[in-house]
Amino acid sequence: MPLHLKKRATKKRAKKAASSFSKFKKLIVPRPDVLHGYLHHTDINLYLEYLQNRYSFVQVHFLGLTYEKRAMKAIEIDWYSERNVTTMERERSRHLIVENMIGNTMLVPMRANLHNATNIRNYVFIEGGTHAREWMSISVALNCIYQLTEKHLRNYDLLRKLRFIIVPVTNPDGYEYTLTKNRRWRKNRRPIRHSRHIGTDCNRNYDFHWEAGPSKMSRNTFKGVKPFSEPETRAMRNLLLKFKSNLLFFLSLHSYAQSIMYPWGYCQQLPESWQTLERLALAGRKAIKSYNGRHYRVGSIAKLSKRHITGSIVDYAFGVINVPLSLVMELPSHDLGFQPPAESISSIGHESWFGIREMCKTAYDLMPPFLNLQAAILANSKLCKSINDKQQEPMPTVANISNQCNTAQVPVKGLKK
Ligand SMILES: [Zn+2]
Repeated sequence: MPLHLKKRATKKRAKKAASSFSKFKKLIVPRPDVLHGYLHHTDINLYLEYLQNRYSFVQVHFLGLTYEKRAMKAIEIDWYSERNVTTMERERSRHLIVENMIGNTMLVPMRANLHNATNIRNYVFIEGGTHAREWMSISVALNCIYQLTEKHLRNYDLLRKLRFIIVPVTNPDGYEYTLTKNRRWRKNRRPIRHSRHIGTDCNRNYDFHWEAGPSKMSRNTFKGVKPFSEPETRAMRNLLLKFKSNLLFFLSLHSYAQSIMYPWGYCQQLPESWQTLERLALAGRKAIKSYNGRHYRVGSIAKLSKRHITGSIVDYAFGVINVPLSLVMELPSHDLGFQPPAESISSIGHESWFGIREMCKTAYDLMPPFLNLQAAILANSKLCKSINDKQQEPMPTVANISNQCNTAQVPVKGLKK
């Protein structure tokens, strides 16, 4: 081949290679490393987006903007989501075609079975980073997300039973401020009108015994000028209300008192269901102890912290939203302070996940929903039969049974506080 033609062919090949590389490049979404460093808020949101792109059982919810215009985001992890069911069906039918080609019989379509499981599974709600300087609470929330997504095969049993909503950074403005300006900052960053002070303690701003909270603006625990005065607490309230009917277990992450606590925070009295709550907390404590020997204290918020904490999100979730199992987990540890070295993020994250996973399993066992519609109908017909035997009334219609099933799907309402 003449030299000029050779050159032209080489150029053409190089051009083709470059164009295919740029096409490939578009598919690469960077994965921020959440396990080995304290990331900026934008990178944490990028991680959530990365997971949504990668897994069809992940959905990111936009909750609203903070005072400094940062996007608050929640991640929903739902194995039986419409998108994942469709993906699984597509995968299955692809296998079906291959199997048919080699002479195997047809498989039964799975959508109906999956949908029975979908609507009756309850949610676990986890939030971290309400207090800006408690970086480890954000890292642990991110570790939970990591375990439930990137390590989903290890946690398939849990994903089959429960759905998850996780808000890793509840106070993004405050968190960014601690990363760049003042590591000790706790509140959010919205200036208080007609004053020189900045910030409200988001964990004193919920409308549950709010009035008894600290009203001095200079304090680290300032309750705000009114309940839900802050964009962060309004966003969290709206999210809780949205999922209210299926919320089973609410977990608020903080640091560093190394304790698992239950309501109430606003008073010394215990709720009626305190023994159930304690059982759940003890399950978490036992799991962590058996993992690496770390000892967590367990008790009510007011008793363990030796003060009254009013207007907190956990009291609000328990007392107003009626989440039957609501806890606060104060992560380790006093020796390491609010911001342990980045090398300990992974180990504390994994250790905490051990406890949190065990609490999720225990929450499910304490209040399991009906596993499927058939079981619900069967249970209801048994119930109807026993009522029938007593009252000699006719059996209920199918519509009645399905109504009863619907109420049975929400086990959270009957529990007394
Ligand atoms: Zn805190």
